This record gives sequence, C-alpha cells and structure tokens, in this order.
Amino acid sequence: MRARALINLEALRYNLRRVGEYAPRSRIIPVIKANAYGHGMHEVACALNKTDTFAVATLDEAMLLRQAGNTKKIVVLQGVNDKNELLQASQENISLVLHHEHQVALMESVDLQKAMDIWIKVDTGMHRLGFEPKVTRSIYQRCRQSRNELVIRMMSHFANADDTSDELTARQLQSFLEACHGIDTEKSIANSAGICGHEAAHLDWVRPGIMLYGVNPFSKGTASELSLQPVMTLSSTLLSVQQRQRGDTIGYGGSWVCPDDMLVGVVSIGYGDGYPRHARSGTPVLINGTKVPLVGRVSMDMICVDLSHCPVATVGDEAILWGEGLPIEEVARYADTIAYELLCKLTNRVKFVYY
Ligand SMILES: *Cc1c(COP(=O)(O)O)cnc(C)c1O
Repeated sequence: MRARALINLEALRYNLRRVGEYAPRSRIIPVIKANAYGHGMHEVACALNKTDTFAVATLDEAMLLRQAGNTKKIVVLQGVNDKNELLQASQENISLVLHHEHQVALMESVDLQKAMDIWIKVDTGMHRLGFEPKVTRSIYQRCRQSRNELVIRMMSHFANADDTSDELTARQLQSFLEACHGIDTEKSIANSAGICGHEAAHLDWVRPGIMLYGVNPFSKGTASELSLQPVMTLSSTLLSVQQRQRGDTIGYGGSWVCPDDMLVGVVSIGYGDGYPRHARSGTPVLINGTKVPLVGRVSMDMICVDLSHCPVATVGDEAILWGEGLPIEEVARYADTIAYELLCKLTNRVKFVYY
C-alpha cells in the first residue's frame, strides 16, 4: 500500500475529553467542517457520539450529515443565503448562524413550520462575518419579534487567539460580553485556541476544531505539550534507495545538490496526494524511527529524502510524513503553512484507514 492516512478514533475521543477538562462548565460543539478537517466527516461524527451538537461551515455539509442518517443538532456557521435554503434548514432541523442583515430580513419574510435554533454572530474584531456590537441589541430584538419561533443564542469568533500575547483576544471577549449585556441567552466565543488559552472565554458553549484532531492550536508548540494526541498519521512507502555521488542534483530543477556521496531514498507521496509542494529541503520525514530530511523539490507522486543517517532503510519500509512520532505542526512550519491546511488538502488518492 502507498499513501495512507491512519485515523485513530480513540485519540479523537481522547481529545474531546481533553476539551471537557479545559472547559468543564461549558457544552461542546465539535467543529467538523471541511470533511472534519480532512479526517472524514461521517466517521468523525460517528466516533464523537457522546456529543449532541456539531458545527459545519455550509448547508451542503449539514445536508451530507443528514443524508447519512445523522439526527444530531447541526449548526451551519455561515448560515443560509436564500429562501429555499432557509426552508430546507428548517425542514431538516438545522440550526443557523445569522451574521448579516440580509439573513435577518430573510427570516422575517418566510413562515417556518417549526421552531428554529439560531446563533446571532457579533463581530468583535475579526472583521469577517457578524453584526457590529452596537447593533447587536436591535438585531436581537428583531429576532425576538420575528414571526417565527426562534431559540436565540449569541456567538462571536476570535481573530488572534493562537497568539497568547495578543491583547485583542481579551478585548474581543469584553466587547462580546458588553454587546450581550442584558440579553439573557447562552453565549459562545471560544475556538480551540480560546479553549486552551483563555479560561474566561469558555462561556456556555465552546467550539473546538483543530484540537480535536490532536493539533496544538497555538502558533508555536506541538500537541503533546497540551496532552493532545494526533488523530491522523500520514504514511507511505519507500520506493527506492540508491547511492548518489557528490555533485548529483536531486529532482526537478536540480535545486538540491548532493554535498557528498550519499544514500538517497524516494518515498511514494507528493503534491498529488496533498503533501505540500512548498515543503522545503530539510522538512522531516520519519523512516524506521529516524527523522530524515526531505531533499529537492516535492513532485506530484514522490519526494526524495537524505538517508545518510538511516543507512538501514530498505525498499518497502514505511515513511511517516506526519502524525505519530512526527508532529504535523513541525512539518507545517517547513512548508510555510499551518496544520489546518495540510489536513484539509489530502486528495482522494490517499487511502483512509480507521481504527
Ligand atoms: C472553524 C471554526 C471554529 C473552530 O476553530 P479551531 O481553530 O479549529 O478550533 C470555531 N468557530 C467558528 C465560527 C469556526 O469557523
């Protein structure tokens, strides 16, 4: 077998329990958008059967869950855009975020047959979606007076919670609480970084995404520092081991030149599988428990590695690209990206194995 992603569902459930330890007084909405950060939305939703609510980004994602027979509460974080979508959400008992006046007006123009759970989103500094704090009360009042029976909650989202030294996070929390002052509803603001780094932000509901998958949500550090367990281990097979001479160039463009006579291996994974093309020479790959550096450019189906320090490596050995024994956070730094992107970008050429 070549490129495969082993998904450890026990680690996933363990990480959910870690969320509960961080925020013991809050209820938990696991965020399983983008195919559960690339791990498989259905498998993840089934494994997290102890929770009663999930969040996804779009109505399409929520409908996929319903079509697979999932009957839990689902919150659509982007809400809906038109009447048909609103009716469909209502019919399927899907909860919606309202972040724009357009969505409030839509709610006022349609007769729903039953009560709907909604979350009013306040923009406290992310400046992406949401109502300005100063109009929050009037939006809340409009929803209260809506012709439809709405169960209203309030939410906001942190912009920089991954940087624990950034004071914006505390200001956003304060702005959110002020905007909600006198509004007697449940509240939510914390993503993973807010859960791990800002106890005051836990409020009634927390919304963990990346930490569930065993990734450190902060811009520095790795999962083990927060006692999180990586859920995905991406691995493939060593296809070739060959002796190269000093001065030989490796791969496309010949950008990497052997500084010595040396052993170079080829692993069957590339950007066609979702391995980042921008991973620099030096990016660690784990072979037989030894970290060896990637050398040369990542190609579509293969990468090359320097086996000087792993002379026992033989064709057919397993190479771990990230996960158990090799933090994805470290790989992300070498590729100038974040673990979120690496996880989301695996292609369907990678075989997923759940255990
Ligand atoms: C994606 C998302 C989350 C989860 O964020 P993580 O950083 O992965 O924990 C929470 N809330 C909202 C609104 C989101 O879009």
